[in-house]
Amino acid sequence: MAPKKTIFDGKKHVSPDHPAYKKIDHLKYLKIEPSLFGEDDEDDLGRILLLCAQCGHLVTKASEKIEVFGLHEHSFTNLGYLVEVGCFRNASGCIGTNRISTGYSWFRGYAWQIQVCENCYSQLGWEYISPQESFYGLMFKMLREDDNRPGENPAPDGAALDPPENISK
Ligand SMILES: [Zn+2]
Repeated sequence: MAPKKTIFDGKKHVSPDHPAYKKIDHLKYLKIEPSLFGEDDEDDLGRILLLCAQCGHLVTKASEKIEVFGLHEHSFTNLGYLVEVGCFRNASGCIGTNRISTGYSWFRGYAWQIQVCENCYSQLGWEYISPQESFYGLMFKMLREDDNRPGENPAPDGAALDPPENISK
């Protein structure tokens, strides 16, 4: 019998054992791994636009992604629902609504303000603000990508990630 897995570990961060964890297949930029040839990575990320999933409005670019507390992707639960966000330096397609709250924050030390799409007003995430800096936490499920790569067929999902297994020496 398989060991029982804890789905929610009771903390605000979600256990990687959660069945919904890491099923963000619609966002390819998350799979672009840094390589020794960093310039290509920058090009790849710079090309990928992140759009509002509801209306297609440009929200930000994959090249705006940052790490906060050592991670780009953060997973939380909100009233039992899994909420997965990515952190971005900037998101020009968002507008803040309501007041800035210093209430319970997923990112310790940061106040937050709800951010909506400036075109259709769907909630996209939150801006997190500290005296030193601010960043955007955007929900993956509210984003889709536009990868306008001229004259190239996109590789099948995950193809670029597979290690070369059949190389004979
Ligand atoms: Zn929108």
